[in-house]
Order: sequence, then C-alpha cells, then structure tokens
Amino acid sequence: TIDNVLDLEKLAVLGHGHGATVYKVRHKNSANIYALKVLRFDEDVMKIQQQAAVREAEILKRLDSDLIVKCYGGVFDNQFLDTDNGGDLCFVMEYMESGSLLDVLSICHTLPEKVISVVARRVLEGLQYLHGMQIVHRDIKPSNLLINSKGELKIADFGVSRVVATTNEEREWCVGTCAYMSPERFDSERWNGGDCDGFAGDVWSLGVVVLECFVGRYPLIVPGQKLDWATLMCAISFGEKMVLPDKASPEFRTFVWRCLEKDWRVRGTVEELLDHPFVTTCCSGPVEGLLGNASEPSFGLKVASQF
Ligand code: ATP
Ligand code: MG
Repeated sequence: TIDNVLDLEKLAVLGHGHGATVYKVRHKNSANIYALKVLRFDEDVMKIQQQAAVREAEILKRLDSDLIVKCYGGVFDNQFLDTDNGGDLCFVMEYMESGSLLDVLSICHTLPEKVISVVARRVLEGLQYLHGMQIVHRDIKPSNLLINSKGELKIADFGVSRVVATTNEEREWCVGTCAYMSPERFDSERWNGGDCDGFAGDVWSLGVVVLECFVGRYPLIVPGQKLDWATLMCAISFGEKMVLPDKASPEFRTFVWRCLEKDWRVRGTVEELLDHPFVTTCCSGPVEGLLGNASEPSFGLKVASQF
C-alpha cells in the first residue's frame, strides 16, 4: 500500500478524463512505476462524498486479479498538485504501458473479430470476478479497458466514476459515460425500485464496446447526430437493435444481440456469454499474441498493419 503521495515523483501526464488527470509516477524508495489518478474535488463537495470515495478505494485495494487493474491505495492530498483548493483524491494504480482500448481504436479504427473475441472474453472473465465480489463496474467503456506491455487487457476504474459524477462536471461526464449505459439505468424508477441489481448493465456496456470495435465508431447513433443526453437516452432505450454488416459472423451477431437485449431480465448473463461460441472458439491466450509487442510506441500502428 502506498499512502503518501509525497513519496511519488511525477514523470508525465498519461491522460485527462472528466474531472481527473492520470500521471505516470515513480515511487522514490522502490523506483517502481505507477499510474496516479488525481480526482479534483470542488470545495462544495460534501464531506460524506469524500468519505464514500475513500471507502471505495478501500474496496479496490482488496481486489487481486490479473483481470483487473490493481489499485494500491487511495488518499486525500492537496499537496500533489500544488493547489490549495481542499482535497484531491489520489488513486495509485498499476501502470498500463500500452494505454487503453480507446487509444487502440483511435489508431486502428476497427478490430478484426478474432481480436474482438479475445477482448470480449477478457472483459467477461473480469466481470465474473467483480460480480463474484458483489461489485458492479458501471463504467465499462473503451477508455477503461487498459493494456499492459505484455498485451494483457484489464478492467480499470470501477466506482471511480460514481465519485466523479458528484462534481460540477457531471453533465459533461454523462455524455462520455451514458453512451455505454443500459436502458434500465435511464429508467430511474426501475433502477431505484430495487429489483434490478445492476450486473446486467455491465453486460450491455460490453455489447456496445464490442460493436464499436467492429463498426469503428460509437454504434448506437448515426454519425453526425448530436451527441447529447436526450439523444443518447432515446437511442439506447427505444432505438432499433443495430443490424450488423453482412461480413459479421453468425456467432458475433448472436453474441452482440444477447448483450444488447433491452430488457435486462432476459439479457445474456456473464456465465451464459462465457459459454457462447463467439468467445469459446476464439484464439486462446491473452491479447498479446494477436496485438504484437504492446510495449513499443508504434504498438497501435502495428496492430493496424497486422490485419
Ligand atoms: P472518464 O473520465 O470519462 O472516465 P477516462 O477513462 O478516459 O474518461 P481517466 O480514467 O481519468 O479518464 O483516464 C484518462 C486516461 O489516462 C485514459 O484514457 C488512459 O489513456 C490513461 N490511463 C488511465 N489509467 C491508466 C493506467 N493505470 N495506466 C496507464 N494509463 C492510464
Ligand atoms: Mg477511466
């Protein structure tokens, strides 16, 4: 556990999310490299929400799986960013050298089915682990699927999104994250009514991600359509199920259909989908064999040229 951010030396900025910045850092004593996610908390954020965030970090620290980006600690600190605006919440995480699936897609645009099937199986295995721990991720999307130098894909950032959602940037955040949200999560009555546990929402999000990998753009709205909350909500809750291009295999079609079933009660479960031919017949082994050496800076381009 790392509980003092002053032991960390900032090396570079890895990326910006809504309400957060992720740094590459070195632990001064051990020289180990980590990723440090710093969430900016506005002063008007309630103490109770800060406490919830720290509790969340405690849960994350207890998770230990190769399928999940490891979290080594979460602390409040106002010294790391040299600001004096109250507390910033810092999460020390495993450093994932090759960035996110979003980075891969921004270079490759689309991925072949055999790569998508490996991604799908990794995410399903990760969800099986999380759900087994009674944790719903709630924010499965390309930027939260990270790849290390060995080409292994892992799930990052559960719970963190709930923390971010309480800041002023909620609206902006929502468009980024609502895009992968299931119909039942827009239906607050049912969501709050207690009969929906939320696990099925993670399966929906996976369906959107794999479809996006295949068609090369966010798949639930037509290109050029305005991307705001209302448009997204209508498309997700009432839009026709997308017809996949002819080149998609029957296995891929039925897999996506089971994930994107609007009624969460009949949607495919993680267990069912782990047995689906789309993932059981895929090339075994981690993403590495398919994606080449992910530690090289040209990784994404290599992926693109390989297919
Ligand atoms: P949002 O804020 O909407 O969730 P996001 O997931 O892109 O979007 P962050 O989680 O703050 O936002 O991450 C920002 C970027 O930092 C990511 O897109 C990723 O490229 C990079 N990143 C995050 N965590 C790590 C990590 N552990 N190792 C390496 N890079 C990371
Ligand atoms: Mg993220």
